[in-house]
Amino acid sequence: MLPVRLIPINNIPDNPVICNMQRTGYPDGREPALPHCPICGGVCETVYTVSGFGVIGCDICVQSVDADECADCFQ
Ligand SMILES: [Zn+2]
Repeated sequence: MLPVRLIPINNIPDNPVICNMQRTGYPDGREPALPHCPICGGVCETVYTVSGFGVIGCDICVQSVDADECADCFQ
């Protein structure tokens, strides 16, 4: 009969998934990619597009202006 080696419970490493969850909060250890605006590069939640032109900006770099106060609308 082989001798039994006892391993102290403190020396047993955690499962890699548990280590990743503790370190990053995600099972694979990689944080999900956040959407970035292709115009300003900011992390954004909404992008604005124009048909035929694609993305023109996002909730960070595009501003809404009242047409009555915009000189470009009266040219
Ligand atoms: Zn932007």
